[in-house]
Amino acid sequence: MIRIDSVTKRYPDGTVAVDGLSLEIPDRSITVLVGPSGCGKTTTLRMINRMVEPSEGSILLDGADIRQQPVNTLRRSMGYVIQNAGLFQHRTIVDNIATVPRLLGWSKQRARARAAELMERVGLDSALAKRYPYQLSGGQQQRVGVARALAADPPVLLMDEPFSAVDPVVRKGLQDELLRIQDELGKTIVFVTHDIDEAVKLGTMVAVLRTGGRLAQYAPPAELLSAPADPFVEDFLGADRGIRRLSFFPSAALELETAPVVPVDADATRIAASASADVPLLLVTDPDGRPLGWGEPKDLTAGRIATERLLPYGRPFVHGTDSLRAALDCAVLSPTGWAVGVDGDGRVVGVVSQQSIGEAIRAAHTAAHTDESGAAHTDKRVDKRVDKRDDDVRAAG
Ligand code: ADP
Repeated sequence: MIRIDSVTKRYPDGTVAVDGLSLEIPDRSITVLVGPSGCGKTTTLRMINRMVEPSEGSILLDGADIRQQPVNTLRRSMGYVIQNAGLFQHRTIVDNIATVPRLLGWSKQRARARAAELMERVGLDSALAKRYPYQLSGGQQQRVGVARALAADPPVLLMDEPFSAVDPVVRKGLQDELLRIQDELGKTIVFVTHDIDEAVKLGTMVAVLRTGGRLAQYAPPAELLSAPADPFVEDFLGADRGIRRLSFFPSAALELETAPVVPVDADATRIAASASADVPLLLVTDPDGRPLGWGEPKDLTAGRIATERLLPYGRPFVHGTDSLRAALDCAVLSPTGWAVGVDGDGRVVGVVSQQSIGEAIRAAHTAAHTDESGAAHTDKRVDKRVDKRDDDVRAAG
């Protein structure tokens, strides 16, 4: 949908902010521009809505040069979200969100109804509608910024470090919310950040830029983590990229064991049958099948297991939904070295050892290396959006 074609930006003082950049930005997906401060991310983003004009090269939107349409028309097709939200301080929240619809000539009533709908979509309580921006937290203001950018339903969303000014917990909430909204709306989002973890989490495609505005690598996150193009990208990805890559492998591949799982009212025969040399500890569950903790068979009095003496089971992983990274994390945190797998309702499905997880990781790596399409099928988010687009095409046809 957006094609950046050999674009260079030289500022009047001679600074080359972007140097011969070419990128194909797929539609209905999140493309992240990431790199160290000053590598030309903001300049690139601003050239897409013509806040900055390229010195050389061109940018195409749906095949047409963006200079062919009036700049105001172009900008109304592109929502824009910046750090600290950039809200109008003298306007209420509802009027901030209604800004663009009002500019487009919508009636006040219709624009406010649209604003109310968007507040709900971005997770804002309608009670905040009449407040002013200074009466909101940083995270809430950022949600208003996203709602305002979406108000006129533009196909493109440009986001410049939108979540950088809020604390890590609020930030995670905003990221999750963006992914959820994107699943519903399927916008073409170009997202700037200096945070590689944010890039890997949000991006369908990630463009790593180096100082001087040159492209170092352009790839889906799983591919970036498995095959960094050069030492700069590798360094930028950080020391634990192998662990982070496991986020792209589903835990469904793990074979869970059910023998070492016993209900709290298990009798002596059951406890004796469950214990084995391989699994010296047993996982005890409550009558609903939820985990209580680990115990040694000899401490588990038949019919009356003393739950207060059980060892903690750590944080369980949701089998099939969570990734191999989550499963490994459970095993590492568990005092027994075994991870507990649960279903969506928190009921135990089975347990798995660090060793088995290690074997599944090796198998997943081997499969990804031998299968040319490995990167695509390990990035589920890509598939979901493609499916959605196909549905839209079918609906339209
Ligand atoms: P990033 O978003 O990656 O931090 P920017 O696109 O903001 O990078 O800036 C890229 C380079 O261009 C930097 O060296 C910056 O100092 C320079 N720059 C940005 N805006 C201007 C400007 N208006 N005039 C001159 N230099 C600029």
